[in-house]
Amino acid sequence: MSRIASVLLPLPLPEAFDYAEPEGMALNVGDQVAAPLGPNLMRGVVSALRDGAGHNRPLKAVQARLEEPPLPASTLEFVQWAAKYAVDAPGQPLAIALRGARAPKAKPLRVVEATGLRPARATPARTKVLEAAAAGPLGGAELARAAGVSAGVVKGLIEDGALTVRTMEPEARFEAPDPDRKGAALNASQAAAAAALKGIVAQGGFQAALLDGVTGSGKTEVYLEAAAAALARDPQAQVLILLPEIALTQAIIARVAARFGAQPGEWHSDVAPPARRRVWEAVLAGSCRIVVGARSALFLPFRKLALIVVDEEHDASFKQEEGFIYHARDLAVARAKIEDATVVLASATPSLESLRNAETGRYHWLKLSARHGAARLPDIALVDLRETPPESGRWLSPPLVAAMGETLARGEQVLLFLNRRGYAPLVLCKACGERMTAPDTDSWLVEHRYSGRLVCHLTGFSMPKPAACPHCGAHDSLVSIGPGVERVEEEAKSLFPEARVAVFSSDTIFDAREARRLIEAMAAGEIDILVATQAAAKGHNFPKLTLVGVVDADLGLRGGDLRAAERTYQLLAQATGRAGRKDHAGRALLQTYAPDHAVMQALKAQDREAFVTAEMAERELAGLPPFGRLAAVIATDVDATRLDDFCRAMAEAAPNTPGVEVYGPADAPLGLVRGRRRKRFLVRADRGVDLSAYMAAWRARVRPKGATRVAIDIDPYSFL
Ligand SMILES: [Zn+2]
Repeated sequence: MSRIASVLLPLPLPEAFDYAEPEGMALNVGDQVAAPLGPNLMRGVVSALRDGAGHNRPLKAVQARLEEPPLPASTLEFVQWAAKYAVDAPGQPLAIALRGARAPKAKPLRVVEATGLRPARATPARTKVLEAAAAGPLGGAELARAAGVSAGVVKGLIEDGALTVRTMEPEARFEAPDPDRKGAALNASQAAAAAALKGIVAQGGFQAALLDGVTGSGKTEVYLEAAAAALARDPQAQVLILLPEIALTQAIIARVAARFGAQPGEWHSDVAPPARRRVWEAVLAGSCRIVVGARSALFLPFRKLALIVVDEEHDASFKQEEGFIYHARDLAVARAKIEDATVVLASATPSLESLRNAETGRYHWLKLSARHGAARLPDIALVDLRETPPESGRWLSPPLVAAMGETLARGEQVLLFLNRRGYAPLVLCKACGERMTAPDTDSWLVEHRYSGRLVCHLTGFSMPKPAACPHCGAHDSLVSIGPGVERVEEEAKSLFPEARVAVFSSDTIFDAREARRLIEAMAAGEIDILVATQAAAKGHNFPKLTLVGVVDADLGLRGGDLRAAERTYQLLAQATGRAGRKDHAGRALLQTYAPDHAVMQALKAQDREAFVTAEMAERELAGLPPFGRLAAVIATDVDATRLDDFCRAMAEAAPNTPGVEVYGPADAPLGLVRGRRRKRFLVRADRGVDLSAYMAAWRARVRPKGATRVAIDIDPYSFL
């Protein structure tokens, strides 16, 4: 009896495709196979097998089973669960899960090693080479360098038969981490949290914990103890540490390597494809036991995942907004459930969702109160910009400038924080008032002085800054409005010409290595004033930093979305928390036009409790997360009429379900992106409603026509 294999393909298809199982192949669920699709062969994963009887059309046959081991059942289950949750095709998360499998392998290495034969002629240079070669195989050039001789000497020895060249597969395995190495010395608060986490890990089974501690309280040391416990408990156990920013990975990798005496696997978009392939294969084989990575590491094919740590769990970067839309923190909890693993969410400013789960007892709540070492929390003061405004055309107020001067005079460091890239967020014509916007997108062009271009931060469109206004033709009429980090850098340099000033933003930092260099320079005291976007507000230790100036504390509050206040609070608390670590007292100055706003008052008083209580009460009243659930529908089309028709049909087709309210359609605040018109629906549901099922049922009722595209966003973070 022949069987039918359902094969999931890494494509946005609604379901798995059926193929015939060739005679004698004896497939299993999880097997990776090559399956024909149109004229091509594609890597897919067998998701189900059933009896062939009753299938009424001829099927193509699976072409081959691939060499790689099958995908673990839990990985396959997670992929399917994630698709259902996100109301998307299972091939979308599968494509992320198979990303490493599709990366090219590292090329074999050509190495030189000693044959044991004596060379016909011995010279001091030749002796040095043979001594260096005794240490193990090296590339020819490396060997020459190690021996301090020219490449010709190595070549001569090869010709003489004393050395030989062979190809060697690059190392695929990872060193085994040693959980018994001595960890960092913990203070009392850390020790208590670490002991609690170890207890949770030792119990086994799914459990979630919120590791809640102020900036600098030493959360990393604590969760590394949980990792040690997980690794020690089971020699096959694997640990995943998720980080929101690539810039943070190097520091955490160094700490993991120091703690366990072995390099962890590194996983994010900056990792070269062959290295990614190596991590993917070693995770699947079980030899890579610790992975440090960005959100997509969650989809790696772990054999035995015992612990997931989501560091900086409140960070909005965990939300993937394009392609497969998901929140890595939420999916981390789901994956831990599927794997029967422990998940630890760590933050100094936890999300309201996680705080709510901790308050209601769904998560263990571990609080770290004391700061590591002798450091104190910084003093936080508000600068009321209505009373002490900066000079015209400037952005730093007199109180902040004075504080900077005092700090620099003491040989200490300043961090100026502004979450705005580029030089100026808006360029307009003073002759006709024209605002420079992207040609096919509703967004202002941001001036970048470094590159001399106007850039759309949404689509990446850019153009040289024109000499004349494109609208009225006036010359030298374009003026830069408002500050970005580049402009604040310019101002800092002109105020303190002696100071060493640097900018940290995604436009000036291109990869993880450059980010690390800048962070190390700051940590070593080689920078006096660092002007930074949110990338630098996270997780770094700058021992000589004693003043943080927040250039525009109101910036995040203007977004007007659900999480505006929460996000502003988190960002500013993180930014101000940078000041004054180790033995230096620090202070933070927040420039604001709204000193009476609840967020500013809570920050000034360093009273997170008050902020959270007020924000929770508002959310509860409105039935918003974490007390209710949200989903969004984003429909786009190049044709406005067809888009309107589709949205009207969607509105009429919305299922009538108790506890669910549908708002819209409305023009999206970003009404036009890359030439496509955008409309949105917002859905609010009570906590008990299966919102994914509701959205799936709704979407199935209306089929988009032509170029209309529909995306569903469960638990949206962007409302644009
Ligand atoms: Zn003009």
